[in-house]
Amino acid sequence: MIHVADAMTYPVVETFHSVQGEGYWSGANAFFIRLGGCDVHCSWCDTKASWPIEHHPRQTIAQLVAAATSATPFMVVITGGEPLMHDLFPLSAALQAQGLRVHLETSGAHQFSGVFDWVTLSPKTFKPPHQSTYAHANELKIVVQNTTDLVWAETQANLVPQDTIKYLQPEWEALGKQGDHGILVEYILGHPQWRVSLQTHKIIGVR
Ligand code: SF4
Repeated sequence: MIHVADAMTYPVVETFHSVQGEGYWSGANAFFIRLGGCDVHCSWCDTKASWPIEHHPRQTIAQLVAAATSATPFMVVITGGEPLMHDLFPLSAALQAQGLRVHLETSGAHQFSGVFDWVTLSPKTFKPPHQSTYAHANELKIVVQNTTDLVWAETQANLVPQDTIKYLQPEWEALGKQGDHGILVEYILGHPQWRVSLQTHKIIGVR
């Protein structure tokens, strides 16, 4: 039987099956759904093509669920762009209804929506999170270019639940590519609530 929600569409930049590169689930088998649209506009964004919401072909929930199910991943990651520009309840619920584990990666810049098994909140100074997002964060991931970002990290850490796992991740062009993790390591040695997250998918050469 076809449900009305199955016909609902989202702009999709790409879907692909790979390995989660970052954070707590680094190394896990994951099917990615990259939704179009982002108004956060980070200067160092590596997915700028995702920004215009209207430039991406739309796919139905039924199509996305079928693609994710056929990949038989350990988990599905809804990412962007900024996925919270869309109402994620219908898509996340449809994926979970098929027994899939569903994760969200978001900057939190818009009202929270959806049902998830894991939420990665990665707040950006360019457009800070909507208040509704902080309570959902299972992990907090702050991209670090310089020491100013460490101040931002602490302000954001004060807004998430106490048991949220906290990561500092070197920005790839400024630090990560060069393997220059000195700022982070020095900081973490003095602030044990933080851990390092690396973009391991870039290191091992997968998407
Ligand atoms: Fe790029 Fe993500 Fe920043 Fe949007 S929030 S500009 S997709 S890094």
